[in-house]
Amino acid sequence: MKVLLAEDSTRLVETLVQGLAEESIAVSAVARGSDAVATALRGDLDVVVLDLGLPDMDGLDVLRAIRTAGSHVPILVLTARDAVESRVAALGAGADDYLVKPFAFEELLARLRAIARRASGPRWSPLAAGAVSLTPDLGISVEGRRIALSPREHAVLGYLLRRRGEVVTRTAILAEVFGYDFDPGTNVIDVHIAHLRRKLTGAPVRIETIRGAGFRLDVDGVAP
Ligand code: CA
Repeated sequence: MKVLLAEDSTRLVETLVQGLAEESIAVSAVARGSDAVATALRGDLDVVVLDLGLPDMDGLDVLRAIRTAGSHVPILVLTARDAVESRVAALGAGADDYLVKPFAFEELLARLRAIARRASGPRWSPLAAGAVSLTPDLGISVEGRRIALSPREHAVLGYLLRRRGEVVTRTAILAEVFGYDFDPGTNVIDVHIAHLRRKLTGAPVRIETIRGAGFRLDVDGVAP
C-alpha cells in the first residue's frame, strides 16, 4: 500500500511514518496543501491521509482541488475533536472517511486498510476536450504541450472544462472550487481567470466573461 500523509505536525508525521513503515506501508509525507494536491494528482497512491489544518491551504480546499481535478484517490481526513462542521464538509467534498485527533494508531491502520480494500475502479477520470486535457500533475496539455498551473488554477479550469459551453456563475465557482457559501467580496476569481487566460494564450480554449452572469469556457472545434 502506498500512502500520502499531508500533515504539518512533525511529531505526528514521525510517529505515523515509523508505525506505517513497520506495517510495510510506504508513506510519503508533505506539510503543505499545495504539495499535497500536486502529489495526490500524480496518481500512484492508494490512500491520502489529509490533515484539515495545514499552514498554506485549507484542507477542504486541498480536498476540493484533488476531486475537481478528477482524481478519485481515496482520502481519509484528520480533524480536530470539536470540528463537526468540517467533518461534514469534508465528507460532502469527497472525503471517504475521517479520524478525529487524537486517534490510536491501530484505528488509523484499520481504516486505511478498509479504505484501500473498498477502493476499486479508476483513480483518475481524465478531463479532456479536443486537443485540451487536464493532466494529473497540476498541468494542462494543449496539443501535446504542457502548461503548468497552480492548484487553484487547475481546480478552476477543471470546473470550467467540466461545464464547458455553459455560463458558470461566480457563486458556483466560489462554492464548488473554493468552498465559500458566501461572496468574500474579493476579485479572487477574476485574478485566477486572468492568470489562466494568460497561460492559455494561443491555445484553442477561450474563457469569456459574460457580463453580469459569470464565465463560459469553450474549446475550439468541440461541441459543448
Ligand atoms: Ca495541522
